[in-house]
Amino acid sequence: MNQITHWINGALDTSKPERSGDVYNPATGKVSKTVAFGNAATVDSAVAAATNAFAEWRHSSLTKRSQVLFAFRELVLQNKEKIASLITDEHGKVLSDAAGEVTRGLEVVEFACGIPHLLKGGYSEEVSTGVDVYSIRQALGPVAIISPFNFPAMVPMWFFPVAIACGNTVIVKPSEKDPSAAMFMAQLWKDAGLPDGVFNVVHGDKEVVDALLTHKGIKSISFVGSTPIARYVYETGTKSGKRVQALGGAKNHMVVLPDADLELAADAAINAGFGSAGERCMAISAIVAVEPIASALVARIKSRMANIKTGDGTQGSDMGPLVSAVHRDKVASYIEAGAKAGATLVVDGRDLKVTGDGFFLGPTLLDNVTPEMSVYTDEIFGPVLSILRVNTYDEALALVNSHEYGNGTAIFTNDGGAARRFQNEVEVGMVGINVPIPVPMAYYSFGGWKNSLFGDSHAHGTEGVHFFTRGKVITSRWLDPSHGGINLGFPQND
Ligand code: NAD
Repeated sequence: MNQITHWINGALDTSKPERSGDVYNPATGKVSKTVAFGNAATVDSAVAAATNAFAEWRHSSLTKRSQVLFAFRELVLQNKEKIASLITDEHGKVLSDAAGEVTRGLEVVEFACGIPHLLKGGYSEEVSTGVDVYSIRQALGPVAIISPFNFPAMVPMWFFPVAIACGNTVIVKPSEKDPSAAMFMAQLWKDAGLPDGVFNVVHGDKEVVDALLTHKGIKSISFVGSTPIARYVYETGTKSGKRVQALGGAKNHMVVLPDADLELAADAAINAGFGSAGERCMAISAIVAVEPIASALVARIKSRMANIKTGDGTQGSDMGPLVSAVHRDKVASYIEAGAKAGATLVVDGRDLKVTGDGFFLGPTLLDNVTPEMSVYTDEIFGPVLSILRVNTYDEALALVNSHEYGNGTAIFTNDGGAARRFQNEVEVGMVGINVPIPVPMAYYSFGGWKNSLFGDSHAHGTEGVHFFTRGKVITSRWLDPSHGGINLGFPQND
């Protein structure tokens, strides 16, 4: 069986792992590979490689860095289908969606290709006579990126192109559920001319994560995953003196005002609710319908759901399986809990008939969901849409703002004034106006509010460049004979 192992200093780690985990193909329910689980010693050797490589990489010219990034971009583009198929085999999402995540990740590589511009500092001449001040941004050193299962290519790509472009060296810890995309990209970096040790991959679970969080040689942590782990990573990493950005879970609301185009809103609800089987941190899971349109909207969503083909992601399906049997059962238990709590089960995904042992669950629609139900309070991370009925815009806004998560949200309306008010008043990091999944382009930054993000910096864009660099301000004076003499006072700058 194919054994996936760590990638350290430009080569596969050939040592025998003490522990390893199974990697499943969620469409068949069968184990397809195993993955080595690292420990503190694995992290020590990855950090040693990254530290060595940093000494040289931080001095590589900006031109050289962008050349390597351009070469990497070409290689990822050429291998997009291959990466997509690795993702589908281990995650289960349909091939077109897997290719889409590679495309979105590539946008960050393209953004990072402009690093010479992004790292430009400021310069002020004559802040005092003969004195100039300027600012530069410098790399941090070895940085760690810990990613979730749901975007095995895109989420690491939110961070590593910018980190590397800024002159850092990187250790990626992918999800143990779908580790192959990161490994494939490691080889592409090597082929693109990135020096060994600049990009490393270690695999494993909590043990290896803890070693990264506390290792003195690691300067920053970029984490994406569930909120309890994000909070833990933030607290542990910052206690160890590291800069940490920890992106957590979500419960994304889509508010539909009475004047919205209901056909557009229903299409959007389907795409954003059931794409990737709802395993997206920007998936819509709660639809807040402002009366009197709720019944009309539910009817439109229900009729569209009948056309969703759930099945193996390599076989032309619209929606693939969930990532694991445990997760599928957990999502199914939320459907049960919602129905028991009094929600109306309009479409029950548990009725889906499938052959084989794949981790499938059909799309589910629950109506008349109320705010105290677990199907609403918790992140479900599966193909379950809940409809909450309210009477006014203010009630809808209050609902969104009182939720513990604040990752993404969307409003559907034809009223520009209402949309503008919503963008101003909603306490959420990423807002769509008639756009259900408002994932920002790479030159803006990605991140939520409240329990969806711990730390100050969002991913990529200017915030990403700032996260992966430290600012330094230099005040300089070159001796001029007219500036002699002793003066113990602060300068008057005249
Ligand atoms: P997860 O929290 O279980 O795992 C994320 C990473 O943390 C993995 O690499 C995993 O190995 C590691 N990990 C797991 N348990 C750990 C522990 N006890 N101690 C230390 N490390 C541990 O998340 P997941 O199930 O892989 O991913 C789904 C979650 O990620 C969802 O909650 C989703 O909303 C979230 N997510 C958020 C964003 C965002 O941008 N906010 C993006 C994608 C996914």
